[in-house]
Amino acid sequence: MSQVFVLDTNKQPLDPVYPGRARLLLKQGKAAVYRRYPFTLILKRTVERPEPHPLRLKIDPGSKTTGLTLVNDASGQVVWAAEMSHRGEQIKRALDKRRAARRSRRQRHTRYRAPRFANRRPRTGKLSPSLESRVCNVLTWVRRLMQLCSVSAISQERVRFDTQALQNPEIEGLGYQHGTLSGYEVREYVLLKWNYQCAYCDIRDVPLELDHVQSRAKGGSNRVSNLTLACTSCNQHKSNQDVRDFLKAQPERLARLLAQLKAPLRDAAAVNATRRALYERLAVLGLPVEYGSGGLTKYNRVMRDLAKTHWLDAACVGHSTPPALDVHAIVPLKIAATGHGSRQMCRMDKYGFPRTGPKQHKRVQGFQTGDLVRAVVRSGSRQGTYVGKVAVRSRGAFNIATAHGVVTDIHHRWCRLEARADGYTYQQRKEAAFPPSK
Ligand SMILES: [Zn+2]
Repeated sequence: MSQVFVLDTNKQPLDPVYPGRARLLLKQGKAAVYRRYPFTLILKRTVERPEPHPLRLKIDPGSKTTGLTLVNDASGQVVWAAEMSHRGEQIKRALDKRRAARRSRRQRHTRYRAPRFANRRPRTGKLSPSLESRVCNVLTWVRRLMQLCSVSAISQERVRFDTQALQNPEIEGLGYQHGTLSGYEVREYVLLKWNYQCAYCDIRDVPLELDHVQSRAKGGSNRVSNLTLACTSCNQHKSNQDVRDFLKAQPERLARLLAQLKAPLRDAAAVNATRRALYERLAVLGLPVEYGSGGLTKYNRVMRDLAKTHWLDAACVGHSTPPALDVHAIVPLKIAATGHGSRQMCRMDKYGFPRTGPKQHKRVQGFQTGDLVRAVVRSGSRQGTYVGKVAVRSRGAFNIATAHGVVTDIHHRWCRLEARADGYTYQQRKEAAFPPSK
């Protein structure tokens, strides 16, 4: 079960506790709520020399979603899990929009100025802003968790596949379908290289098989440069025909296939760039960092019969993964990066003219847009209790986005702060930890 973090009164991390114990501590007045997300209690007493059990923070960084899981290596118990969605796309869109606005302004107002060029320092060794935000999101949460519990080691999935294991793939017959670790590395590589679709009919979302372009029977090798993806029917249809005979009717497809076969995986480096940057910055935190490959993660997950989710993938990263993982009743916290508002001074209409007055103060009566508030309205037409994100208005009557829609014009005197806006939104939802039985 997802556990609750506990700090002593000096904010030293203690062992996390089960929710039942947390409720008891709160009821008996021995602790108070320190943070709502992730749920953390602060005890009202000091603990001399706390010795909490060491936990391993495991990270599966993705381009859209990153899985974060805290595992007790000694017992194999998953203590806490989260899935964080990034805002890379959003950042890219915002920058494109800014570029368009600046270009348009130059065209309208300052065309007489001589063009400036070579007046920017090149971004050497830096990640692009959308990639940088992903790395920063993960680092923020690693630092947060280090303050709330005793993180003693970090595991990160660093590469999609281990190129070492690709060098001599020992795949024989059906071996690569449910066999060795290197088989998993090969599969991951081939799936990515051929874009998760059948090379002969482009079908997706069906079980795909590895196909030897030059068949084994005719001396084709097991090297990845001789492997492609085929759906079951194409694979059987092709059998051990030569690919040139099989695709006689489709010369274009044949040419494309042969070219793709020789090409190394083009964007593997780009895929791994963020992960490398993350690894380097995690190493600075002073904790031992273990890294694993995507193939190893998948192998660990399949061997433990766990479903494909981001947080379970994270739990299976690296060679340190305990032989049995206790994931019973874990509900991952869904974290979505939202950023901290925009710097735009006023809203525009669709023609680019100012639509609103200039921005007012960010903070109104102690509240800020994005804060989580609880409003208990005792009189008037809006009587009731509303919990949700607040949108502040300078006149002092706010909008609150609740689970059932937005309520408008709630006066600030009814509102109580539950959690400050911290650039993320949160949601906790149940889902199955085990794959549906076959
Ligand atoms: Zn096919």
